[in-house]
Amino acid sequence: MTIFHSNSQPLPPVPDSLTVPQFILDTEVKTTDPRAPTKIPCFIEELTGRKIYLDELRSKTEYFARGIKAKWNIGEGSVVSIFSPNHIDYPFCIWGVHRLGGIVAPMSFALGASELVHQLKLVETNVIISHIEGLPVVLKAAASVGILPSQILVLGAPNHPQFPSVDDILRAGKIAPGYVEQKMNPGEGKTKIAFFNFSSGTTGLPKAVAISHFNLICNVLQFTAHNRIHEDYAPWEERRFRPGDVCTGVVPFFHIYGLVVNIHLVIYSKMTAVLAEKFDFAQMVDSIKRYQITHLWIAPPQAVLFCKHPAMANADISSIRFCMVAGAPVSSELSEQFVQVMPNIHFGQAYGMTETCAAVSMFPLEPRVGTMGSAGQSTLVSGTIGKVVKSDGSLAKAGEAGELWVKGGQNTLGYYKNEKATKEDFIDGWVRTGDHVLFEPNGDLFIVDRIKEFLKVKGLQVAPAELEGHLLDHPNIADAAIIGVPDDYAGELPRAYVALHAELSEKVQRDKQLEAKVRTSIFKHVADAKARYKWLEGGIVFVDAVPKTPSGKILRRMFRDQLAAESKKV
Ligand code: AMP
Repeated sequence: MTIFHSNSQPLPPVPDSLTVPQFILDTEVKTTDPRAPTKIPCFIEELTGRKIYLDELRSKTEYFARGIKAKWNIGEGSVVSIFSPNHIDYPFCIWGVHRLGGIVAPMSFALGASELVHQLKLVETNVIISHIEGLPVVLKAAASVGILPSQILVLGAPNHPQFPSVDDILRAGKIAPGYVEQKMNPGEGKTKIAFFNFSSGTTGLPKAVAISHFNLICNVLQFTAHNRIHEDYAPWEERRFRPGDVCTGVVPFFHIYGLVVNIHLVIYSKMTAVLAEKFDFAQMVDSIKRYQITHLWIAPPQAVLFCKHPAMANADISSIRFCMVAGAPVSSELSEQFVQVMPNIHFGQAYGMTETCAAVSMFPLEPRVGTMGSAGQSTLVSGTIGKVVKSDGSLAKAGEAGELWVKGGQNTLGYYKNEKATKEDFIDGWVRTGDHVLFEPNGDLFIVDRIKEFLKVKGLQVAPAELEGHLLDHPNIADAAIIGVPDDYAGELPRAYVALHAELSEKVQRDKQLEAKVRTSIFKHVADAKARYKWLEGGIVFVDAVPKTPSGKILRRMFRDQLAAESKKV
């Protein structure tokens, strides 16, 4: 049996009786190095420069918990959804819910009302925290799932004529009675759900991934062990993350990458994240100089901008020491270009997924030259093992490709209330990643391809089944299949292969104007209902029929092969 082990530092003991805020806010990592600044802001609001420190986060978490307990009786198992961009008030809202034993469901701020409805229903939301700019979408979605306006709280505005604001809750919390904090017995941290994040997994529609307190704490420790933050592990000069380091805070909090790294790893490592509500590359470049940013955690499209954007012409990015790209494949060309732009920094990629509460692997401390590879060099993070299952079911040896299965404390609990999908992707303590990989004999992991269904557009998941289902609601469409077409910036763009109803199909073949009209109407059908990154910007192709297996499963592979053949011809 070939099992691949991590060759990182050993994982320190992972507390299994602490909630996330008990770990992040109450247990402080001691820093004895005199070079560490004494007062480090946890977050800075990019545009205003407003800072928030650990003490303030602690007290606001406390007041927020008291406030929502008094107003909505949030307690064990209550679900609070957050629909907001990366706002400075977001993190303490999370921890306030956790103090009471509640579960937080962070939702993408790009979603439209119908997409939000799907997620709100999946997790049976009790209260929605909505950014002020997201209120119209939230109100529409809430109405259709029976969530009352009285269950909505506004973030990002000091007050609102109709809804309580986060500030109102904090004020109320200051004078509200205390509460019994969620405390756990040893081992309970492994079963108590802290977050619901969304992923479509290897197949089908987006599902709610149940993430325990232990999972999140474990992944933060796995990151830090991999990076030797602990003073006993490495001298100051060799540490990747040092107290006082400053990072970009553009990776969205709702995504597992942002949730783990941009919030919890930052605080645990005594770093500062500069938070941008809206991503603007030129603004980010300005901020690098203004805030002396040392660390970039970004997704591949942002790496492309560092190589190509005009704002880089006169940019001063000399403060940067480290860059981690994650969330989607990074081509070798992009890696090479990036290294030209920033030759002297520590650069590489991390690989992971929502089902593994972020990181499975990360670039090693000493990346080996010549291993940029097609999907970059990375090694399993501490406390993680992997096996590679070949298509005949046997296990691959080093150098052989197959599907990666992983096991570690970061493996989440499964899909909430979806036993069937859980059984498919969570097997005997392993998570099936749906990614085609190979390990080198030295432990380097290379992601070769994705075998699961979803596309990655700008690092975000697009589930073909979701778009296909929506396309079937269009009156002209008889059948549809979605695949991703490669794109230099977005990674992939969704393309629809559409079979029109027979009569119309014949007319469209003869009438170019009609064809353009139908195409526009299909594009609009998706654009009106779905988040921007799901729009059919990879094109709409009319076909006579959508090929299927005898059991009715769409053979998307045939369109992918056709596309690959076409691009070879060009
Ligand atoms: P998500 O659950 O949205 O984080 O998506 C996880 C999926 O993104 C993985 O299973 C991979 O298919 C892809 N992915 C994430 N990081 C990388 C990477 N560094 N290289 C290649 N694919 C990646």
